[in-house]
Amino acid sequence: MNTKNDTYKHKGQRQRLVQLLESKNIRDVNLLKAIGSVPRHLFLPKDFEQRAYEDNALPIDEEQTISQPYTVAFQTQCLNIKPGDKVLEIGTGSGYQAAILAEMGATVYTIERIEKLYNKAKKILSSYKNVFCFLGDGTMGLPENKPYNKIIVTAAAPHTPLVLINQLCIGGKAIIPIGNMKNQKMIIFTKTDENTFSEKELGDFRFVPLIGKYAWNL
Ligand code: SAM
Repeated sequence: MNTKNDTYKHKGQRQRLVQLLESKNIRDVNLLKAIGSVPRHLFLPKDFEQRAYEDNALPIDEEQTISQPYTVAFQTQCLNIKPGDKVLEIGTGSGYQAAILAEMGATVYTIERIEKLYNKAKKILSSYKNVFCFLGDGTMGLPENKPYNKIIVTAAAPHTPLVLINQLCIGGKAIIPIGNMKNQKMIIFTKTDENTFSEKELGDFRFVPLIGKYAWNL
C-alpha cells in the first residue's frame, strides 16, 4: 500500500468517519482504531477517491462494490475480533475489509471469484503479512486451512451456507447476509457443537450477490 498518498486531509476525514460510526453505536475500540488507520481511499478507483470517507458503499471494478463503512464496522463488531483470530472472508472485493481485520491482529484468509479484483487486492494487501489472498469460489470455503474462529461473508447468500459453518471451530462465529437479490437479513451463526449451531437475526442490509456452487447460479 502506497501510504505516501495518505495526507493529513485524509487522516482528518477518517477521524470524522470514526466519530460518525461511534454515533451509530460502533464501540469496539480496536475496530475504531483500525478504521482510523486504514486509508480507505487507496482501495477505491481514482474517480471515487474523494468520496472515500462518506459512509456509503461505492463502486469498484467489475460492477462490484466496496461495502459501506458502517456495514464493515457492524459485521466486524458482531464477530468480536481478537488478535490471533483466524478469519475467513468470502468476497475480497477491494481488500478493505481484509485490511481492517488484519489491522486488528487477525490472520485473514480472503477469497475472491473475480480475477481482476483478486489481483488488485492481492497487491494492495501485500504489505500485511497476516493476509492470504485466494482466487476461487468462496461458497465452498477454504477447507485446507480450517477450522476458523470467525467467518465473514460480504456478498448476499440465498440460504444458510452449511459448508461454511462446518469450517468453523466449536464456539466460532460466522456473519452472513441472507435473503433475495434485493435485500437481506444479517445473520450471525455460532457453532455450538460438531453438528449444531445457533443463529440470530441482526437487521436488514443490501449486498451484491454471492455467486457460486452453493449460492446464486448466475
Ligand atoms: N469485502 C469487500 C471489500 O472490502 O471491498 C466488499 C465485497 S463486495 C460487496 C462482494 C464481493 O464478493 C465481490 O467482489 C464479488 O465478486 C465477491 N463474490 C461474490 N461471490 C463470490 C464467491 N462465490 N466467492 C468469492 N467471492 C465472491
